[in-house]
Amino acid sequence: MKRLLILGAGTGGTIIANKMRKVLKDDWNITIIDKSKLHYYQPGQIFIPFKLYGYNSEDGCVKPSGQYIPDGVNFVNDEITAVNPNEHRVTTKGGSYEYDWLVIALGCRIAPEEIPGMEEGYGKNVFYFYTMKSALDMQKALEQFDGGKLVLNIAEYPIKCPVAPIEYVCLADYYFTQRGIRDKVEISVVTGMQGVFTKPIAGDMMGSMLGERGIKVIPNFNLAEVDSSKGVIKSYDGQEVQFDFLAAIPPNLGAKVFDGHDMADGNCYILTDPKTLKSAKYDNVFVLGDSTNVTTSKAGSVAHFEAEIVYENLLAEIEGKEPHPDFDGHSNCFIETGYNKAHLIDFNYTQQPVPGKLPYPLVGPFSLLKETRMNHWGKMFFRWYYWNMLLKDRFSKSMELFLPTRMSYRGKDKHYLEK
Ligand SMILES: Cc1cc2nc3c(=O)[nH]c(=O)nc-3n(C[C@H](O)[C@H](O)[C@H](O)COP(=O)(O)OP(=O)(O)OC[C@H]3O[C@@H](n4cnc5c(N)ncnc54)[C@H](O)[C@@H]3O)c2cc1C
Repeated sequence: MKRLLILGAGTGGTIIANKMRKVLKDDWNITIIDKSKLHYYQPGQIFIPFKLYGYNSEDGCVKPSGQYIPDGVNFVNDEITAVNPNEHRVTTKGGSYEYDWLVIALGCRIAPEEIPGMEEGYGKNVFYFYTMKSALDMQKALEQFDGGKLVLNIAEYPIKCPVAPIEYVCLADYYFTQRGIRDKVEISVVTGMQGVFTKPIAGDMMGSMLGERGIKVIPNFNLAEVDSSKGVIKSYDGQEVQFDFLAAIPPNLGAKVFDGHDMADGNCYILTDPKTLKSAKYDNVFVLGDSTNVTTSKAGSVAHFEAEIVYENLLAEIEGKEPHPDFDGHSNCFIETGYNKAHLIDFNYTQQPVPGKLPYPLVGPFSLLKETRMNHWGKMFFRWYYWNMLLKDRFSKSMELFLPTRMSYRGKDKHYLEK
């Protein structure tokens, strides 16, 4: 019996389990391990603090993981404590598992403990939304917030869903407008980068949009400390920003089990070949999703596109062929901006987001780098698609048009592409 072991039953791990079970015969044992019995639809956590668009609670954003693991795959609910690629062995709290091929999809975690004062302030005037529980805590706190300085701070990069800060402040603008207290709330984004988004064309457009909404951007601020008693964040170079309500995005790090591991960088992200998605250090190991150190977004869309590449390359290796250096870093994301509208971006390692239409030139129906109602409805529909199609790898071939694994240039504005 040959053994495929998958670590993590989140977005990436669940898709790959479904894909591999369809093609590997009965002489393959497939096992997937996750410490959680629950699967979270994380994009919903951006709406929960504001109770927007029906996202009032975790209903519809969490399901039993087992519901998405296919028949014929063993689901082990346990915490992984060690990965030994020399012995082809993974250890959990309760057992030990050997493999012929390993797929790592352990995501990333928030680490507020890395910033002095952040945990101490939690629940008083410091809140997060990167976990379901913290998003629900923030919802209660926002209901009590009647005005003052609301500061969204990104402690450091990379973070998963790099557009989440933009979405958060736009939704805050919409939320306080709906509550009739927008004029009492000063909203700002404090970031260590030069702007709100790393890619220049999208960054400029998003920056202008925030300016028009009266949302201030404070760049080049590298967070050193949170002083919740004084309501102030401090940077390494001595800048200070006052807050009444801090929406903090703590440092994001890879899975703790890779702390100090030679497979990973100093932030626990696995050293990964950016094109084949093989471990850069060990054979018979593939990596996908937020666990990798590849230089595209940490996003569910990326985990999905990477799953297609890992599937192709894993099968190639099993058949004794070379893996294809085919992953182009494709990422796309709706950016919800409130008022029933959203932007959409589509890019890869070499092509930054540009305006245009997706998937069809001229007709779309989705618009790139433009706020539209259709984009908003795309984002709203996506949750249904995630639970019913994406995780179970249903109709993946017919969805290639809308969500191609490799980025398409069709519909993208040539004027911008030539820049
Ligand atoms: C607020 C927010 C909004 C987002 N919005 C979007 C969006 O609009 N679009 C988009 O594309 N993406 C979005 N994302 C990002 C997206 O959800 C993630 O990028 C995606 O889920 C990554 O998939 P993954 O498989 O790499 O990791 P995950 O889905 O996080 O799965 C990792 C799994 O590993 C398990 N695990 C970790 N360590 C261990 C261990 N030691 N032992 C056992 N199990 C372990 C975890 O329990 C988890 O189930 C958002 C994320 C957040 C937080």
